Amino acid sequence: MAVKKSVGDLKEADLKGKRVFVRVDLNVPLDENQKITDDTRIRSSVPTIKYLMQNGAKVILCSHLGRPKGVTPKYSLKPLVPRLSELLGVNVVMANDCIGEEVEKLVAALPDGGVLLLENVRFYKEEEKNDPEFAKKLAALADLYVNDAFGTAHRAHASTEGVAKFLKPAVAGFLMQKELDYLVGAVANPKKPFAAIVGGSKVSTKIGVMESLLAKVDILVLGGGMIFTFFKAQGYSVGSSLVEEDKLDLATSLLEKAKSKGVSILLPSDVVIANKFAADAESKVVPASAIPDGWMGLDVGPDAIKTFCEALDTTKTIIWNGPMGVFEFEKFAVGTDAIAKKLAELTGKGVTTIIGGGDSVAAVEKAGLADKMSHISTGGGASLELLEGKPLPGVLALEDA
Ligand code: AMP
Repeated sequence: MAVKKSVGDLKEADLKGKRVFVRVDLNVPLDENQKITDDTRIRSSVPTIKYLMQNGAKVILCSHLGRPKGVTPKYSLKPLVPRLSELLGVNVVMANDCIGEEVEKLVAALPDGGVLLLENVRFYKEEEKNDPEFAKKLAALADLYVNDAFGTAHRAHASTEGVAKFLKPAVAGFLMQKELDYLVGAVANPKKPFAAIVGGSKVSTKIGVMESLLAKVDILVLGGGMIFTFFKAQGYSVGSSLVEEDKLDLATSLLEKAKSKGVSILLPSDVVIANKFAADAESKVVPASAIPDGWMGLDVGPDAIKTFCEALDTTKTIIWNGPMGVFEFEKFAVGTDAIAKKLAELTGKGVTTIIGGGDSVAAVEKAGLADKMSHISTGGGASLELLEGKPLPGVLALEDA
């Protein structure tokens, strides 16, 4: 995917007095009293918005929240206005809709440097259908387009893709830019040795990532529930561990592919097994080849952690997607925590560490190590698709640099 033009390439002369349609990801969690429980996404959108304000643009913010079916008050973006205003240092104006005459009037009244927040764009079913007429109505509000919503960039929706056809220039925001720099740039031209750590529950959801990364990495570390499909394919008994019976051949062919490419694949030598899938399960450590019947593997063992950490010590770039075990249960979070700590330590020594979205982000945050990594991706599905080498519609729609 070509390098895309960034909002940072636009200067005051390009922005002053211009109406800029900014697709942001303000899909924050709200509690039953409509209180924001985690404002990370709002804070992440601030650098792009502030840059536009400081350069005299009239900023029109567009986002979705949740999965509404038609106009649904509980998915209104209104509760976000106070926090957004506080972070931006201006009174953000709220629109009751995202298209139409009323909204056009609010845009016309915006001063240079002013900010208008449109109502949830998914109140219209046309958004997810990428309806061109709807995209045209959104585009009618503005002169140019900035997409900073990385988390929805793998979807071709009206506000993430369609609208870019009608507004020029169409550029990436700073958050989008950083995601692309790391997930495309650092992965395409990594400082070597380059290791990928892939975990999570299933082979089937990670096969694309593993195949794509096999072409680039020197070391592939495997953990999580998916390892038992690999072990079963090798003829080990896996007890009642998670296994995808229909993916045994795939696991074998992946191991062969790695061998032919000279990639060293590290599967855990020992595992932590449990007598049931529960936080208070009885547990013990056994060699990966000796899981007794009736027991299931829920984490990688201490010997595996040691081997994994030694291998990671030799690298300059590491990308991690998917936990090493059932980290939601304290007892089986040891492997995941150890990897998180190792990556934090290596980041301090100059290794580039990229946490590629989804549950590994939650695990790193739970361990309190989020600010110790080079990059933590904000998009689950979008990061996975990028790492699989798939172009994202929301990125393709932007202008090349
Ligand atoms: P994914 O969304 O594919 O990255 O998978 C994340 C999920 O994998 C987490 O909810 C973990 O609890 C789960 N997981 C990790 N290791 C195991 C395991 N050994 N058995 C079952 N589930 C696992």
